Amino acid sequence: MTEDNLTPEQKELIIKVNRAVIKAREAQREWSEKSFKQRASYLKTVHYRISERTQSISQAIFDDVKKPIRAAIGGDILPTLDNLKEMMKNGAKVLKDEKPSASLSQFYIGSRKLKIIRQPYGVIGVIGSWNYPIYMNFDTICAALLSGNTVVWKPSELTPRTNEIIYRMFDELPNGVLVMINGGPDAGKAVSQSDVDRIVFTGSTATGRKVAAQAGARLTPVATEMGGKDTLIVTENADVKIAAQAAAFGITNYAGQNSIKPQRLLVHEKSYNRFKVLLKEYMEAVKIGPADLPSVQMGPLINDRAVALADHLVKEAVAQGATILTGGAPATEFQGPFYRPTILENTTNQMRIEKGDLWAPVATMRVYKNESEVVKLVNGHPLGFTSSIFSKSIQKAEKLGQRLDVGTIMINSTVLSVADAKIPFGGRRLSGNMERHGVWGIRDMTRPKTISISEGWLDPIYRGTYKFTKRWQIVVIALKAGQYNKAFKAYMSRRLAREE
Ligand code: NAD
Repeated sequence: MTEDNLTPEQKELIIKVNRAVIKAREAQREWSEKSFKQRASYLKTVHYRISERTQSISQAIFDDVKKPIRAAIGGDILPTLDNLKEMMKNGAKVLKDEKPSASLSQFYIGSRKLKIIRQPYGVIGVIGSWNYPIYMNFDTICAALLSGNTVVWKPSELTPRTNEIIYRMFDELPNGVLVMINGGPDAGKAVSQSDVDRIVFTGSTATGRKVAAQAGARLTPVATEMGGKDTLIVTENADVKIAAQAAAFGITNYAGQNSIKPQRLLVHEKSYNRFKVLLKEYMEAVKIGPADLPSVQMGPLINDRAVALADHLVKEAVAQGATILTGGAPATEFQGPFYRPTILENTTNQMRIEKGDLWAPVATMRVYKNESEVVKLVNGHPLGFTSSIFSKSIQKAEKLGQRLDVGTIMINSTVLSVADAKIPFGGRRLSGNMERHGVWGIRDMTRPKTISISEGWLDPIYRGTYKFTKRWQIVVIALKAGQYNKAFKAYMSRRLAREE
């Protein structure tokens, strides 16, 4: 799109975003010069406000995206509080200066000291998604702020109430440290084309590609958390009942609108029949209904479009040879965008339902004979976020997990165990390229800078008056004899250095 093709609204958005970036850049120097402790003191207030307003925040999340209140508290607000606490408590440690010793190949420069400091990028453009509006947004915003960046934040247009609440929580920050830009794709586009120093994008892989292309004109680095889907593996010695319960929970939790929802089930031939019977039973027992009723286990999807997409992909797979074990249609007895918990069998890699990131309580199930098939199916998939492995042998499960090219392996559990501030979270391939949570996120928001301090100038070398000391004679003789370790030892020897 050229400048001439832009609508007045788009032009206005670009101006607004550019002003926000200028404001954030002006604020960044002073903000980055504050100590970690000073920056954390602002976020302490934010932490307090979140815990104090759990009720109103969870209500806003429910109003925006119909997430059940208990899921909003347990899956969104609590992990946010843990995460922020961990960042404030341990973040300073990972930003500490490092002081490595110089390498042997540098000896001709003479003695020097090295220091590696971690510096913030500058202004971070954060583009957010709707499904975990508190957790995902606070995670990136707080990691960016604590490490000395300022932020221009474009949250999802689908969570207006929650966004407002989040933004108000930061109102004690100095002006320009966090600037919110409201709007949809055009606002996101304006942020990704602006003069920010880094973009952190959470959302679908399709949009992530657009963001990367838009940022490409300025070569702005883009960190991504994108499409997911968990492959849940039921091995031959799994506790099949637990695996079936976990699978049913994971597929229907928050109506499947989770980037690490089990979407592909790979079941060993020896476990298949029993697992299939139990899974069908558990999926059909899930209580569907309005998400605000305490007895309800699965609420609606975000909108009718999401239901239509799920139904289209299920029907398309069936037309191509897949069979339905359970579900396979919208749940029309309820008012709103509901879809039945669904399991498909006889699917193939070519079907779109196997390829993409489907946000609905739908999963496919296939039988496998040996682990090589599992490795091929997981590592050959374009998305690689997580894998859940069910096995009574932790050792075997761990060994298999190490062969899978995904960001997190969950043994004998699914979905829930990744929302932990102590562990890094990130995908592989088209699922993303960043590390987030706790101290991992903080370090990820900085870059290393080296300061090399020479002790004495190189003048003697240029003038040819360099003193070829005993130490260097030993170093050279050892190197000529191919004895690197001996040379290095002599180079590092304090005694020989003192004699020089
Ligand atoms: P989305 O890709 O539709 O939108 C994400 C954000 O990008 C929104 O703020 C949107 O306004 C903005 N946007 C849309 N078009 C844009 C453009 N051209 N340029 C810049 N910004 C643009 O995703 P969504 O519907 O909000 O969230 C669902 C998706 O997010 C799922 O695919 C899910 O897997 C993914 N997700 C991933 C994670 C993770 O941790 N990997 C977490 C949450 C969501």
